[in-house]
Amino acid sequence: MDNFIQFSYVVAAALFIFGLKQLGSPATARRGNMVSAVGMLIAVVAALLDQGIVEYQWIAVGFVVGALIGGAAARMVEMTAMPEMVALFNGFGGMASLLVGWAALVPGSSTFTLVTIILSILIGGVTFTGSLIAYGKLSEKLASGAVLFSGQQVVNSLIVLGIVASAVMFCVEPANHLWLYLVVALSLVFGIMVVIPIGGADMPVVISLLNSYSGLAACAAGFAVNNNILIVAGSLVGASGIILTQIMCKAMNRSLSNVLFSGFGSGKTEATVVEGEIKPITAEDAFYILEAATNVAFIPGYGMAVAQAQHVVKELAELLEQNGAEVNFGIHPVAGRMPGHMNVLLAEADVPYDQLLEMDDINPRMENVDVAIVIGANDVVNPAAREVESSPIYGMPVINVDKARTVFVLKRSMASGFAGIENPLFYKDNTRMLFGDAKESIGLLVREFS
Ligand code: NDP
Repeated sequence: MDNFIQFSYVVAAALFIFGLKQLGSPATARRGNMVSAVGMLIAVVAALLDQGIVEYQWIAVGFVVGALIGGAAARMVEMTAMPEMVALFNGFGGMASLLVGWAALVPGSSTFTLVTIILSILIGGVTFTGSLIAYGKLSEKLASGAVLFSGQQVVNSLIVLGIVASAVMFCVEPANHLWLYLVVALSLVFGIMVVIPIGGADMPVVISLLNSYSGLAACAAGFAVNNNILIVAGSLVGASGIILTQIMCKAMNRSLSNVLFSGFGSGKTEATVVEGEIKPITAEDAFYILEAATNVAFIPGYGMAVAQAQHVVKELAELLEQNGAEVNFGIHPVAGRMPGHMNVLLAEADVPYDQLLEMDDINPRMENVDVAIVIGANDVVNPAAREVESSPIYGMPVINVDKARTVFVLKRSMASGFAGIENPLFYKDNTRMLFGDAKESIGLLVREFS
C-alpha cells in the first residue's frame, strides 16, 4: 500500500510539472490546468488512503463544506473580482498550512519537526493576514494606498525579533505553549505589517509574492506531517510564485526590496503638468478614421474587464481585418488586476494567440500604428512613466500608445486608474477620447462597420 501511495505521489508530481509547463502558453493553458487538477485529484485520493488517517468522518464533512463554498464562490464571482478571490484563496491556503502545522505538534516531536511546525505557522500566518489586507486593498474595501508611518521599520524589526525569540524558546521548551501562541499572534500581526506599506500600482507584486508564501507554508507543513506530495506541491507553488514576482518587478522596473519597503510613490509629489486639452470624439467620427487605418493596435486594460467588452472587441478586430487592416493586441504584464488578466479575457473571446504581442514586441512597432485603441487601460499607457520624473510611476515600462499616429482612449470619465495619478496621454494632440462604457462604444463602432 505504501509503495502504491508513494508511486501515486510521483505521478501527481509529474502531472503538476507538466501542467505548469503548459500554463506557460495561452494556447495550452486550459489543458495545463486540467492536467494539474487531475494530478491534485490523484494526490488527494492517495493522501486519503494513507495509513496515518484514523477516521474519515470529519474529512468528509470538511470536503463537502469546502467543495460547496469553493464551488459557489468560483461560480458566483465576477470576472473583475477574480484577483480578490485569488488573494483570499492564497490566504486560506496560508491558514490551512498554519492549522496543519499546529495539529502536527505531538509530545516528543523532534527538533526538526518543531522547526518545520514553526515555519508552517509563521509563513502560513503571514500569508493569511497579508492576503486579507491585499483582498481589502484590491476590492477597495480598504484604501489602496501605501500606509507608512514613522518608526515603521523599528516596529517591524521588533516583531521579527519577537518571532525569532519565541520560535527559539518554543523549540527549547515545546511543552510551554505560550511560545507557540506568541509565534501565531506575531505572525498574524506581521502579515498585516508587511502588506500595508505596499499600495497603488505595486499590488501585482504582492499578490504573486503571497502566492509564493502560501506555497512555502504548504511545503513547511508537508515536512511537519511528513507528506511528500505536500512538500513537492508547496515547492512548486513557492518557486513559481517567486519567478512570477520577479517578472512583475521587472515589468514595473522596480527591485523587490524597493516594492516591499519603500511604499508606492512615497516621497514623490506628483507634479504632472498636463498640457493640451481633452478632445472627445463620437463613434461615428472614430469610424471614419478606423475605416482608413491599415494598422490598428488594441491596448486592453482593467476597464475592458469591467465592461466585459472582450467579445465585441474581437468582433471589431475581425471587421478591421476584413477591411484590410493589420490588427494586433498589446498586452502589458500588469494590465488589469491580476497577472495574465488580459490574456484570460482575450482567450475567452477566442482572439488568435499570434495577435497578442507583449509590451516589448509592440512598442517598437508603435510608430507604424495608424490607430491605437486603448480599451479601459490607464496606468499601463501613461507616458508620465517616461516623461515626468516626479511621477510615482516614473521608470515603469508602459505601452507607448502616444507614439501611434492616432490614439482613441475608451473610458467613461476622466477618472484616474488604480495608481490614482493623472495621465497626460489624454491631453496629447493625437489623442481622442471616446467616452462611455467600453462595450457600448466598441458596439457602436461595430454597428458603423456593419
Ligand atoms: P487602470 O486601473 O489604470 O485603469 C482602468 C481604467 O478603466 C480606468 O481609468 C477607468 O476609467 C476605466 N474603466 C473602468 N470601467 C470601464 C468601463 N466599463 N468602460 C470603459 N472604461 C472603464 O488599469 P490598467 O489595466 O491600465 O492598469 C492596471 C493597474 O492595476 C496598474 O496600476 C497595476 O499596477 C494595478 N494592478 C495590477 C495587477 C495585476 O496583476 N495586473 C494587480 C493589482 C493591481 P473610467 O472610470 O473613467 O471609466
